[in-house]
Amino acid sequence: LVGSDGSVYPTIFAEMSALAARTGAINLGQGFPDEDGPAEVLEAARAAIANGVNQYPPGRGIPDLLEAIAEHQERFYGVLLDPGRDVLVTAGATEGLAAALLALIDGPDDEIVVFEPYYDSYAAVVALAGARLVTVPLRWPDFQPDLSELRGAVTDRTRVILVNDPHNPTGAVFTAEVRAEVVRLAEQHDAVIVTDEVYEHLVFDEPHVPISTMPGAWDRTLSISSGGKTFSATGWKIGWVTGPADLVDAVLAVKQFLTYVNGSAFQPAIATGLRLPDAFFRSIGQSLKAKRDLLGAGLLAAGFDVSTPAGSYFTVADARPLGATDAGAFCRELPHRAGVVAIPMTAFATPARRAEYATLVRFAACKRVEVLEEAASRLAAAH
Ligand code: PMP
Ligand code: GLN
Repeated sequence: LVGSDGSVYPTIFAEMSALAARTGAINLGQGFPDEDGPAEVLEAARAAIANGVNQYPPGRGIPDLLEAIAEHQERFYGVLLDPGRDVLVTAGATEGLAAALLALIDGPDDEIVVFEPYYDSYAAVVALAGARLVTVPLRWPDFQPDLSELRGAVTDRTRVILVNDPHNPTGAVFTAEVRAEVVRLAEQHDAVIVTDEVYEHLVFDEPHVPISTMPGAWDRTLSISSGGKTFSATGWKIGWVTGPADLVDAVLAVKQFLTYVNGSAFQPAIATGLRLPDAFFRSIGQSLKAKRDLLGAGLLAAGFDVSTPAGSYFTVADARPLGATDAGAFCRELPHRAGVVAIPMTAFATPARRAEYATLVRFAACKRVEVLEEAASRLAAAH
């Protein structure tokens, strides 16, 4: 995490967003929307600030948000949570993941199984906690894991199987067979399942299925999500962890010494968002699906091969038909050549497997239609 000269390496997102700012290129790198979310949610935050909701909230989160999280899980997934015991509010999904892994990892022999490529904080937190990362590859173009490779990765040393579904950076939504195998392996080896479901409502075909709803999963699963993507408020950092009270308490024990609490005025606003009608939740997936199609068509027209995602903000494209051999070099040059920023998939892979992702590039579709159209025409012109 720190270079030999003592400097802190920026994350790939910070590096590529700075490159976009410096060059004036369209930023299809870091995944954040360029439009605000629902007016009711923004107004609820303003009202909370005006009404003096500006001091430390309770350690688990404000009761209204705990209840709204429980209502949301019952409405969409039929999960019945005790809001006072099975729910914990965190500083984004990022803190929920960090606190969960720090709580569950006992020592250097513990192994954490993740699908690779993975969201960058996973490997960093496993390193900070001093455990071992074991990865199962997701391969172009459908990015579903091979079940025998998954079986080979999970052993009695496995403390946690960490599943991000829908998946960043690939846009994959895992099949029912994959979810069932994760649960079976966790039971067989007495591992905990930690899920990252921040894209739960950004799915294009089938409704999202949380692993916690699979038979046998509930007692050993911590589910993590956040309001950032669903309500287009990635800077608010209101996330949550849900699951059986004993596991949630272990996360709270760590969380209280990471941030203690955060975002008092944003908590009631996210509660307002979680109570919006079904039509809102349907509309965000539909609108992003149209953007995915626009971006995918633009990338194809510009000469890339494209893997069509089933969820998330992202589309993965192969730049090999354009002559690329190194996605990192390709992405560092793209803003100068085409005025567009994207992220090399190698940034999400372990050194041993980077070669498999060497020519793949991640593009974010969560931008205004006119921005995506302009990016597509720039990429086509540079082709
Ligand atoms: N997990 C994944 C897979 C993500 O893509 C992101 C955000 N980009 C996060 C976690 C972080 O979520 P939050 O902003 O709520 O901390
Ligand atoms: N989750 C966002 C992405 O994958 C960015 C998060 C970040 O900047 N750390 O692009």
